Amino acid sequence: MDRPRPTVVRTLADARAAREALDGRVALVMTMGALHDGHLSLVREARARAEHVVVSIYVNPLQFGPGEDLEAYPRDLDADLDLLAGDSADAGADAAVTFVLAPDDAEMYPREPLVRIDPGPVAEVLEGATRPGHFAGVLQVVAKVLAALRPDVAVFGQKDAQQLALVRTLVEDLGLGVEIVGAPIRRDPDGLAMSSRNAYLSAVERERATSLFAALEAARTAADDGVPADHVLAAARASIADAPGVEEDYVVLVDPATFLDVAADHRGEALLALAARVGPTRLIDNMTVTIDPRKVTT
Ligand code: AMP
Repeated sequence: MDRPRPTVVRTLADARAAREALDGRVALVMTMGALHDGHLSLVREARARAEHVVVSIYVNPLQFGPGEDLEAYPRDLDADLDLLAGDSADAGADAAVTFVLAPDDAEMYPREPLVRIDPGPVAEVLEGATRPGHFAGVLQVVAKVLAALRPDVAVFGQKDAQQLALVRTLVEDLGLGVEIVGAPIRRDPDGLAMSSRNAYLSAVERERATSLFAALEAARTAADDGVPADHVLAAARASIADAPGVEEDYVVLVDPATFLDVAADHRGEALLALAARVGPTRLIDNMTVTIDPRKVTT
């Protein structure tokens, strides 16, 4: 049984008032819409931690660079509301989402913001290197929505590992007093990480896109076999290099706090992160691998 569609709030002032009227803990899930099961898994994670869940849906222009897909980015609020209403993980219980905040650009940025957030060194590498200004734009909107809603908890996906790390730092450095929860990556049955951008893929590209997960699996298998860190990375790189129609942007094995490369003889956990183009579509994925010192023989 579907629930009714959640109420849509269009302004930050209304969102603040609606939040203040709520009893109990409030959890926030921030999205750019084009919702899929990955987003819904965040909503469920949020529901497990609070009486109320607020979902924000806003395609934030500040986090798109020149030549990126701001105009093409899929927008369908009606479909998003239907998905939130139809999420039947526990149909019949209270509405999963108390309200949706869906502001427009004039509401979020009535003028160019003059005060900007400098996201620091983690924003300079990987996604930040390919997409200059991206994380400054992300943290600007995250700070603004957190300030309006003052949630107790906010759930972000590990799919965007660098973003999750930067949001944690934002909250810590500005003392925002909200608990940040990281949620695991939701995948299609063939391993492809769910993403709103998967909608851009043709049938052939969709098939080719499975090689991103295959590369992560190659790295994990190598790690399980007890090869050293540089070989684990090489396994992922080789896998992407062999994949037809997939062009590597980066494939790295990094420290999950700094996002800097780990040493060739690193032991312990590390994050295998990659970005690749499949046709014109740029996709990202990641996986934690463990270089077990008891297994590594060379
Ligand atoms: P987006 O709408 O792409 O900005 O994503 C909104 C939130 O959903 C972010 O915290 C993402 O990390 C998270 N997310 C997107 N895709 C997935 C996925 N496949 N699994 C888990 N979380 C995801």
